[in-house]
Amino acid sequence: MGEPEHIRATYNDIHNIIRGVSDKIASEFKPDMFIAIGGGGFFPARVLRTFLKDPSTKRNIPIQAIGLSLYESLPGTTSEQLGSEVIRTQWLGPDPGKRLLGRRALIIDEVDDSRKTLQYALKELQKDVESELQLLPESERDSQRTEFAIFVVHNKLKPKIGELPPNIPYFFGAEVEDKWLDYPWEAIDIEEHDRLAKEDKEKKTANEH
Ligand code: 5GP
Repeated sequence: MGEPEHIRATYNDIHNIIRGVSDKIASEFKPDMFIAIGGGGFFPARVLRTFLKDPSTKRNIPIQAIGLSLYESLPGTTSEQLGSEVIRTQWLGPDPGKRLLGRRALIIDEVDDSRKTLQYALKELQKDVESELQLLPESERDSQRTEFAIFVVHNKLKPKIGELPPNIPYFFGAEVEDKWLDYPWEAIDIEEHDRLAKEDKEKKTANEH
């Protein structure tokens, strides 16, 4: 058996994918805060910010960072048991709920694979918001409740283990087959990575003709 097939994405591929979906995110969600899931969400968040800059105010959208790490899933894990499989390696800092109240926060990652990371990130952030809301008079809570949405560069087309509530807007840059994606920021030799990516594209074009 050979190496499982990889999909190589270049910096330019990712930049252009993000550019392609940025108008949709700006018009349908209008985020005023990004929460990048590290490390894969950092570069996409920074690139998306370029396209979402408010042309009148020239204001940049602030980028907050969280870090999550996934344990290997045990067979038969349900979405309810996920919390024990994901660990926080970095969070929003002191008073996370305070930073989130009243905001329109876009959670950003590079890839939605099993969806476990996204489910966990959203749930935990929502918990922070709910604890902070409890400190406010009941009449003010609804207006201060954070609106969340999700953006991933690549969504792998596969059955997901993690679940996201249907009322949470979900944006993806591209849908891809269930193969391993090689990202440019993981490459040691970026010229070689780009050369192989170009070769893959040429082979694909040749096969289509
Ligand atoms: P999840 O399975 O929770 O959706 O994804 C967990 C994490 O695994 C992602 O945030 C990403 O860092 C990593 N991951 C999943 N699929 C891939 C892939 O195809 N390529 C790379 N480089 N990382 C991936």
